[in-house]
Amino acid sequence: MKKYLILSLIILIGVSLTGYFVFFNESDSQEHAVIAEVLDREVVINIEPNMTFSIISEQAGLDHTLMQSLFNASEEVYNLSKVKAGKDIKFVFDKDTDIFKQLIYPIDTEEELYIQQDAEGNWLAERITIEYELKLKTVEGSIESSLYESAVEQDIDIRAIIDLAEIFAWTIDFGMGIRVGDTYKFIFEERYRNGENGEYVMPGRIIAAKFVNDGKLVEGYYFDEGLDEEGYLTEGYFHPDGASVQKIFLKNPVSYKYITSGFTTGRRYISAFNISTGHRAVDYAAASGSPIRSVGTGQVVHAGWNGSYGNFVSIRHNETFTTNYAHMSKIYVSYGQRVEQGEYIGAVGSTGLSTGPHLHFEMVKFGTKINPLTVELPSDKSVLPENMDRFKEHVAEWQGLLN
Ligand SMILES: [Zn+2]
Repeated sequence: MKKYLILSLIILIGVSLTGYFVFFNESDSQEHAVIAEVLDREVVINIEPNMTFSIISEQAGLDHTLMQSLFNASEEVYNLSKVKAGKDIKFVFDKDTDIFKQLIYPIDTEEELYIQQDAEGNWLAERITIEYELKLKTVEGSIESSLYESAVEQDIDIRAIIDLAEIFAWTIDFGMGIRVGDTYKFIFEERYRNGENGEYVMPGRIIAAKFVNDGKLVEGYYFDEGLDEEGYLTEGYFHPDGASVQKIFLKNPVSYKYITSGFTTGRRYISAFNISTGHRAVDYAAASGSPIRSVGTGQVVHAGWNGSYGNFVSIRHNETFTTNYAHMSKIYVSYGQRVEQGEYIGAVGSTGLSTGPHLHFEMVKFGTKINPLTVELPSDKSVLPENMDRFKEHVAEWQGLLN
């Protein structure tokens, strides 16, 4: 059984470029000469589900004592019992002695774990920030059916589109508010590894973005305000006037990814806020089990059965606003609990007086149900006054590139 497992492993004997290849700069010579010598041996193992670090090390040819030393050395910075299936772990063996000398494991998109010996021969583990080469990319599109489809058609990395939707999650309702003919354009960093012509890894930060939704232009610009008093970087996305794109409430309690009828135009909800019919709420059609998020930070003031509302959660955000979520199949929060903006509080269902799975969402202001689709909400914060001149210059520069 184990032998078959070994056969099924993707084990690559790779090469290490460092020190053994000499590249001449393109401007010096049209060709690059390669002086190749013996290379360190690399064993790369693609981790399969249920593979422990012990099994992986054995596959790589390490003995149990060495495996244990690496495990112990790493404990303080990364727990090797938590290596994840699907990732590539690399073991490097010295070119002359073929003795194991280095382990490299990708912790996440930002850091790698390196284990190697120090001058005294002790195994030393470190988390090292991955250095990406960044290239700016500008993409634009218009919406025929959905934001997702638009991105696919134009060969835009879908992860960048998700980031775009997150930037405008407080302003644009990607679940119900998208229209045919809406347009977008944004500039983002693409992350590459191993040199300028290296391998594309993933999208990085979006620098500047605009979205024309139902004829209305919304712009967002990344801006870094420097370190705050506690030494944390203050950064975020702001509209050209310096107001944060973040509002006290998200536009949508069910992410656009889960809205049943997708991004098509027209009415995608069962019914909307309507004073004449007495339905003072918005109903979001989504598959049973789709996650429901709190639109804002607050405290749970009801979590449980509530008559025709079925499973019901009510969140008090401040002395002005409360939001209510009904017909849930599951409730993830309990009475009195504090929730953050965007935190999952339950799942879409059809409990209580309901004809099919949907989220019945109410927003209450000073005790009166108001229309969450049309309410204008204040921004979370703004660019600090002392940074405003720098911000305006920054925006003017990126606006130039965007328009
Ligand atoms: Zn309803």
